[in-house]
Amino acid sequence: MKLVLASSNQGKLEELRHLLGGAGVELVAQSELGVGDAEETAVTFVENALLKARHAAALTGLPALADDSGLCVDALHGAPGLYSARYSGVHGDAQANIDKLLHELRDVADADRSAHFYCVLVLVRHPDDPQPLIAEGEWRGRIASGRRGDGGHGYDPVFLDVERGQTAAEMPAELKNRLSHRGKALVELRQRLLAAL
Ligand code: IMP
Repeated sequence: MKLVLASSNQGKLEELRHLLGGAGVELVAQSELGVGDAEETAVTFVENALLKARHAAALTGLPALADDSGLCVDALHGAPGLYSARYSGVHGDAQANIDKLLHELRDVADADRSAHFYCVLVLVRHPDDPQPLIAEGEWRGRIASGRRGDGGHGYDPVFLDVERGQTAAEMPAELKNRLSHRGKALVELRQRLLAAL
C-alpha cells in the first residue's frame, strides 16, 4: 500500500519509514508529490492532524498519514500546547521558545512544574474517511529550572523525566524514542495498521 505523509519534514519521513518497515507500506512525502503544507487552523492536536491528512489525501488521491505534537504545561493551563513550535512568536526558534517558557514559570515551584508531551498520528484512507485510524502517545514529566543536555530538539533540554532524573536532551536517542510520546504513538499506529491491512 502506498501512503502519503502529510509533512515535509525529512526526519519524520525517515523515522516513520523505519517504523513501518515490514508492514507492507510504501511511504512518500507530500512534497515529493508537489503538495504543500496545509494551514493548521484547528484548536486541538487531533483536528490539526486530521486537517493535514485530509488535505494530502484530497490532493494526491492516496491514503494519508499526518501527525501533530506539542508540550502542555499544567501551570500554564496546557500552553504552549498547539502553539509549541511558535510559542515565542517565531516559528521553530527553540531557544526563544525555551526562554519564554522558563520566564513564564519563573515563580512556579518544582512540584508545580508538571508537564507532558503529546503526539497524535492520524491515517485517513481517503479525504472523506468516516473512521480515521488514530494513535496517541503521552510522556509525563516536569519543566526543569534551566537547560540540561545537548541532544534532541525543541523543548528537550528543559523536559525532565522525573523517574530517570534526566532531561530528554540528556538521554540517548534510543531511550528517548522508547519513552517518548512519539515513540508510543508510533508503536500503537504500527499495531493498528497491521491489524487493519
Ligand atoms: P510538530 O508536531 O512537528 O509541529 O511539533 C510541534 C512542536 O512541539 C515542536 O516544534 C517542538 O517545539 C515541540 N515538540 C514536539 N515533540 C517534541 C519533542 O520530542 N521534544 C521537544 N520538543 C517537542
